[in-house]
Amino acid sequence: MKIYLDGRIMEAEEARIPVTDRGILFGDGLFETIRAYRGKPFRLDRHLKRLREGCRVLRLSGIPGDEEIARAIEALYMENVGSGDAYVRLTVTGGDFDGSRTLTRSSPPRFFILVRPFEGYPPEYYRRGIRLTVSSVRRNPYSPLWRIKTSNYLEPLYAKQEAADRGYDDSLFLNTDGYLAEGSTSNLFLVSGEKVMTPHTDCGILAGITRETVLELCSREGTACEEGFYDLEDLRAAGEVFLTMTTGEIIPVAEVDGFRPAEGCPGPVTSRLSEAYRRLVAEELGL
Ligand code: PMP
Repeated sequence: MKIYLDGRIMEAEEARIPVTDRGILFGDGLFETIRAYRGKPFRLDRHLKRLREGCRVLRLSGIPGDEEIARAIEALYMENVGSGDAYVRLTVTGGDFDGSRTLTRSSPPRFFILVRPFEGYPPEYYRRGIRLTVSSVRRNPYSPLWRIKTSNYLEPLYAKQEAADRGYDDSLFLNTDGYLAEGSTSNLFLVSGEKVMTPHTDCGILAGITRETVLELCSREGTACEEGFYDLEDLRAAGEVFLTMTTGEIIPVAEVDGFRPAEGCPGPVTSRLSEAYRRLVAEELGL
């Protein structure tokens, strides 16, 4: 497997980062996960925009330009995948630790890209939906850090383990104010009648690119949609629940801690939006 690291494509075994990197010492870094459909990354521009916004917040400067990143992804796809879909991960780290314990750094960031084949999630996820449990961990809407995709992913990992230990597929985060926030690595949507609802970004969530695309599809189709502040009671009143994420697209939710959405799983609005999402991807990428 080949890797892009700091301007060069090399064998994975050659791609090394020193133990003195701030990414390792402090989790100082950012990442993006992109799905490439038959080699074509979906909405790469949006992912790069979010990455650059994260760089602005964390004061990381000097990562490669959009065109170089796009070229490197293409080259790695040809080397590592060749046909079918791919998982693309961009990672920025804080670079060498120079003793600074602020966001002021004297070394440039490190930047690497991984591209590998992606088979998708199990088909049962889409046919039967997934089962969620509410995590004991809460999102903090007052932190600037959950709005960007930092390399600190221990909360999602902890929450996914918590789900596995309880016999569930994944976890759902409330925020510290008690409102619904997001899935451990996804955004949350509720459907009530024909209305689609999703937690507002002020709930302390990542502004997901799939979430944004689904909101766009709703307005295109004339489906009522709103971003707001919802709680578990709203969730229990919902006819359909689904999650959105780049790699998994739209994943129907069959159960949240014993509650099963009334419209079945996948519900009609979820199915309609899933089909519309796949059509949009094909249309936009010319597949
Ligand atoms: N929230 C979190 C915490 C995530 O890790 C992800 C996955 N990137 C999402 C939401 C969904 O975002 P996107 O649609 O951009 O993949």
